[in-house]
Amino acid sequence: MPRPVLADAVDLARAAVVELREGRVGDYLGVTSEDDFAATHRFAADIAGYRGWQWAVVVAAGPDDERATVSELALLPGPDALVAPQWLPWDQRIRPGDLSPGDLLAPTAEDPRLVPGYVATGDPEVDDVAVTIGLGRKNVMSLEGRLDAASRWFEGEFGPESEMAKAAPSTCGLCGFFLPLAGSLQAGFGVCGNELAADGRVVSVSYGCGAHSDTTLPVGAGSPQFDAFDDGAVELTARATSSVGVGDSASTE
Ligand code: SF4
Repeated sequence: MPRPVLADAVDLARAAVVELREGRVGDYLGVTSEDDFAATHRFAADIAGYRGWQWAVVVAAGPDDERATVSELALLPGPDALVAPQWLPWDQRIRPGDLSPGDLLAPTAEDPRLVPGYVATGDPEVDDVAVTIGLGRKNVMSLEGRLDAASRWFEGEFGPESEMAKAAPSTCGLCGFFLPLAGSLQAGFGVCGNELAADGRVVSVSYGCGAHSDTTLPVGAGSPQFDAFDDGAVELTARATSSVGVGDSASTE
């Protein structure tokens, strides 16, 4: 609890804010002690665009002082204040799908997804093979980068836990439209080459869909899930007769 000379300086603190002329000073919100010689009085701030903010007025008094003086004054966010999100460097704000034609997005200097590759030799035969296995490129994906990608693909739309995969008759790994990746991800992933399915997308070997190359149509006609409805058959039902008055004509249909 602040010393009385500090705690009682509410009017002094309010007057300091009023003198600023930065908007109406709202309700008194209380006082907190900073140390033996300073305390902070808070008032609700009634300023457009600053919902939940508070005026904080620090008053100070020496050990033998009978009156406090205003030390500093600030507009601060309260617990429910509307505040701007924490600032993020631009390269951390980019999200998948943000890249547009013409945009340049260089990897950071220490991008953990990349490790140095090896420079080209100049021999076309050697370089053809080298490029295929990752040599000849300045950077190649690091183990961390490949594991991250594999996790995203496995847990994503074309992984084994998707609704499509759960309802599929078989898996991509056994499908004729499956084009395996090269390199260390070959065992787990490939690209779908079926234009009526996940065409051009990386799919897990455990994913699958109804357009699997081994899919066979059910024998017979009609839907495999529902009995056929014969709309050529006519069902005759008796029609309820209604009572009619004298002189009315009754239907005989
Ligand atoms: S057609 Fe279906 S099962 Fe075959 S590779 Fe493409 S997504 Fe996989």
